Amino acid sequence: MLSIVIPIYNEEKLIAELVKRTHTALTTFTSNFEIIVVDDGSDDSSLKSLQASQVQFPELKIVALSRNFGHQAAYTAGLEYASGEFIGMMDGDMQDPPELFAEMYRKIKEEGFDVISAKRIGRKGSNSRNFLTFIFHRIFRNIAVLKNMENTGNFSMMTREALTALLSLKEKIRYLPGLRTFIGFKQGYVEFIREDRLSGEPKMSLSKLFTLAADAIFSFSRLPIRMCLILGLIGTFVFMCAGAYVLFAKIMGFAIAGWPSTMLSIYFLGSIQLVALGVVGEYVYRIYKESQERPLYFVKKIYDGTPLKK
Ligand code: UDP
Ligand code: MG
Repeated sequence: MLSIVIPIYNEEKLIAELVKRTHTALTTFTSNFEIIVVDDGSDDSSLKSLQASQVQFPELKIVALSRNFGHQAAYTAGLEYASGEFIGMMDGDMQDPPELFAEMYRKIKEEGFDVISAKRIGRKGSNSRNFLTFIFHRIFRNIAVLKNMENTGNFSMMTREALTALLSLKEKIRYLPGLRTFIGFKQGYVEFIREDRLSGEPKMSLSKLFTLAADAIFSFSRLPIRMCLILGLIGTFVFMCAGAYVLFAKIMGFAIAGWPSTMLSIYFLGSIQLVALGVVGEYVYRIYKESQERPLYFVKKIYDGTPLKK
């Protein structure tokens, strides 16, 4: 069986089309599938539309979360409930074309891949948003310990074996595209041009996007904390030289009361220390969040006929 996991949050306008198009796309290459839509605490009529679609498409299963937990948590909920031997992940706004699952499925079954990620070779839609995503991928490519991740997102398919590995990673602050690469196995790619969302505004606000980018960077790169050390070392060297000069000037008797140099070093050192403290704070915050061990999400109700196994 193939399970497709789709998180949605306030997507009432496109649910009917989403389910229909995904269903049609899957039927072209398999008859044994389930579509798991995770309702991430929508407060519009998304859940109602989903239930309406379920009448027509019994392969649709709905996992309704108790509130909005964010799309990485919603994906995780769907992945934990999926029972297929192959598992696909796709955004619910039609930016990821479900027709591409056929190619991913073929690559996994015939070419022996365990994980197939979809790489965006082009993007339609908001330029400023796409530009920010582009910048993120550039930075991430250069500093992350993971390779070959540029321009991949959640859109992907994997085998049960890979999913089991992925779900064994219990961290609370999650960047699933990174975790999916981290597990290894035989990783492959398919390429596509990312469409604009079918309707409505993006549900990932800019601040949610920045948080996701920071989570990705902090969990897959040690550059932030390394930079603090490097800045500290550079500072130490520079100020040792400066200190030697000050002593020399004192001994030679040409030291003058220097307001500019004093102020500049206070400003300079002060800001470096604040930045370093901020970076350390980010780590402390993450350690704190992980140590709370709160569940990633709560399920309010499953609409399925029979309860899905957890
Ligand atoms: N989403 C979600 N919970 C949230 C925010 C978004 O489940 O808190 C869903 C959203 O409905 C969509 C997918 O996650 O199906 C991607 O969101 P969006 O299109 O806003 O993100 P972007 O395309 O900008 O990455
Ligand atoms: Mg989108």
